[in-house]
Amino acid sequence: MNTTEVKHYKKPVELPLTKEEVNTTTILFGGLTLNHEHLLKGAIESLGYHADYLPVPDNQSLQKGKEYGNRGQCNPTYYTVGNLIRYLNGLKERGIKDIEKKFVFLTAAACGPCRFGMYESEYRKSLQNAGFGNFRILTFEQSDKFSETSGGGLDTNRAFYTALIKSLVLGDMLNEIGYRIRPYEEIKGETDEVIAMYREKLFMALRNGSSVREQLHGLRERLEHIKVDFLTVKPLVQIIGEFWAQTTEGDGNYKLARWLESEGAEVKLEPVSTWIDYLLWSSMLEEKEKLRIKPVKSTERMIGIFMLERLFKFYFNTYRRALGSWIQKLPSQGRLAGYASPYFDVHITGGEGHLEVGKHIMAFKDKKAHMVVSVKPFGCMPSTLSDGVQSKVTSDIPSSIFVSIETSGDAEINVKSRVQMKLYEARQKARDEFDTVLSEYGAEYNNLKNLLQNNHRLSNPMINMPHRYTGTAANFVSFMSR
Ligand code: SF4
Repeated sequence: MNTTEVKHYKKPVELPLTKEEVNTTTILFGGLTLNHEHLLKGAIESLGYHADYLPVPDNQSLQKGKEYGNRGQCNPTYYTVGNLIRYLNGLKERGIKDIEKKFVFLTAAACGPCRFGMYESEYRKSLQNAGFGNFRILTFEQSDKFSETSGGGLDTNRAFYTALIKSLVLGDMLNEIGYRIRPYEEIKGETDEVIAMYREKLFMALRNGSSVREQLHGLRERLEHIKVDFLTVKPLVQIIGEFWAQTTEGDGNYKLARWLESEGAEVKLEPVSTWIDYLLWSSMLEEKEKLRIKPVKSTERMIGIFMLERLFKFYFNTYRRALGSWIQKLPSQGRLAGYASPYFDVHITGGEGHLEVGKHIMAFKDKKAHMVVSVKPFGCMPSTLSDGVQSKVTSDIPSSIFVSIETSGDAEINVKSRVQMKLYEARQKARDEFDTVLSEYGAEYNNLKNLLQNNHRLSNPMINMPHRYTGTAANFVSFMSR
């Protein structure tokens, strides 16, 4: 008889962040856009913590992540962990013990079918290999609360959620302002200057608890002085795909959004708010289905999700109104699921779930874009699943101009030349749409251009145009011809 003792695997005991350490510890985070992260820093600091964000991950971060991490991970894992290690290496003069004592890293985590569920342990392994064996990772469960790792130093109360929501929603709005106005501005760089100024003002408002709405009113007034030419015909390109890959502003997607803009496109970037809305929607769906099995627990959780959704929508709508309702409404999650469900089971979670498919269909059925680029990080399982379905969607929607790209850190030229080929078609599509609208309204381009030059109100970027067509120029003709 074999009497060898079986030693079961036990998760290593994690070092906590205690309440006493909060005053001397900086919470690091990263992975979103500059607008989000700067505002998030202000929001976290308003709660009494010290916070800072990491630089945008680049290809050196990717290499560092590969050097210290396990084999076969998806790209965002390598980029984000490599970025953290490079940042900590830059602090090494202070000594490793001091770094481990005075810094923690905060990241979202989730249980689930894709590698996202393994991020936390990947971070720990890579940090250990890089010589930071006692560095603390605080994980924030997307659907729940801080893990025990936090050790009570971080309080996930209503104030925490409110701060988080406010900063993410405001970051989305600053991004949307940039991508919608910048391509049409007459003085190059003006929109970015205004955004930088108000990013700082909003940061201070969030940190000091002063009025965010007042700053948004000021922002709106300042934006009204930027001169734009909305008669410039540009293809509207929507970027979708895996959450991190579509959001990052660095090498992780070859700086895709800014590059598309430099190629003459108007870019539609997915707001983080759509992702929050999706998480709430899918959590609610799950609880509804569990209702018959665990009625009490599910009801409690449904109330919690409902309250969180109300809080989120309250801030989204309040800030949207402060900007004159110019910011686009969030897409209906029910509608996205309805579009996706003939192709993709909406109960499948992990990554973007059915969102990639739903957004692709919505872009063309609801005239939201002339072209869709879907960004799939190398090794991403959910995006591979979606891409399998997208070819069927493309064949069912003849008007779709869709390109899926895989970002591996190299092959940039290859990827960009594929996008350029599709962009050529999208440009043509935008031009055809514009010509059709001109003839529908019996309008002459030169007459409209004269009108625009002689009427300053028409060069105001904050005009609320009707949404009848896909392109901004086509909608502007419709607006001018009322
Ligand atoms: S969605 Fe894809 S890229 Fe993102 S964590 Fe999951 S497997 Fe990795």
